[in-house]
Amino acid sequence: MKQRVEDLDWKNLGFKYRDLPYRYEAKYKDGEWQEGKLTEDSSMTFSEGAEVLHYGQEVFEGLKAYRRKDGKINLFRPDQNAHRFTLSAKRLAMPPFPEDRFVDAVKQVVKANEEFVPPYDSGATLYLRPLMVGTTKVLGVEAASEYTFRVFAVPVGAYIKGLNPADYVVSEYDRAAYAGTGQAKTAGNYASSLLPTVEAHKNGFADSLYLDPREHKYIDEFGGANFYGITQEGQFVTPKSQSILVSITKRSLLEVAKWQGLNPVERQITLEEAFNMKEAGAMGTAAVISPVGSITYEGKKHVIYSETETGPVTKKLYNELVDIQYGNKKGPEGWVQTLD
Ligand SMILES: *Cc1c(COP(=O)(O)O)cnc(C)c1O
Repeated sequence: MKQRVEDLDWKNLGFKYRDLPYRYEAKYKDGEWQEGKLTEDSSMTFSEGAEVLHYGQEVFEGLKAYRRKDGKINLFRPDQNAHRFTLSAKRLAMPPFPEDRFVDAVKQVVKANEEFVPPYDSGATLYLRPLMVGTTKVLGVEAASEYTFRVFAVPVGAYIKGLNPADYVVSEYDRAAYAGTGQAKTAGNYASSLLPTVEAHKNGFADSLYLDPREHKYIDEFGGANFYGITQEGQFVTPKSQSILVSITKRSLLEVAKWQGLNPVERQITLEEAFNMKEAGAMGTAAVISPVGSITYEGKKHVIYSETETGPVTKKLYNELVDIQYGNKKGPEGWVQTLD
């Protein structure tokens, strides 16, 4: 059933799928991307033999549309999502979707569903989910020759309400192999993190924190967000690793940290070092920053800043980036695209 806008409570949207009026779809066949269009059909149809169902040939993205104070709508660095989508597709042996068409498709979907972009001040946003799947009927392992690209939208609430610290647990599992698909935004990485996530939730944790898969010594990232810490010296540090998905929120916060004088650096961070950070957080589009209240490792809980309060450096980073996303502050050239 289609979502009706009058049935939405902007303050209590949660983060769940809703069937909005319009989505964009384009198909790849005979070696090229066909013309795409908006459609009202929320179902995708393909054979039981479709590549994606057997060998997981899928990549996706996640970005948001923000309602500004003046009523207009902002997109935050959609070109970065388009480019990462290309890199993910290449790793999965898929034909990249043209980056300008990716951004255009996102804009079309936002405009077609404009009444579903939540009001400024609700803390809610319109989440965009571009994705691509291999649809060729296969049995032997080979890359598909036909693909479907889609962008749908869902209004979502503030992912974790406010800046409330959460408890995390170091996982005994790996999310991605060292030279595996960790740098691609692909369903398979989430498939391997589902069981650890279920177990973490069952034990009262917000998410798992993964270590590097080679030595299990350095911090990699959370299931769907990158890690940062503020050292005792006040430096912003975030892991450098082969097996993490480089977050656009992280890339942006590295810039913000620079002009806030936090001397940011990407380098390996041991677990021991993480326990001694002044502050720490999880970075991703969904929550922007989710402060790390504690990290539990081998049954021992290490409180980072506080389990109930958010640290001052984290607050300042968060406020600066959110102000740029909503257009309250001017960010660097090209970060924000206002729809006309
Ligand atoms: C999407 C994602 C992130 C966050 O990236 P953003 O571009 O900031 O949204 C981090 N880690 C993983 C594994 C992800 O899939």
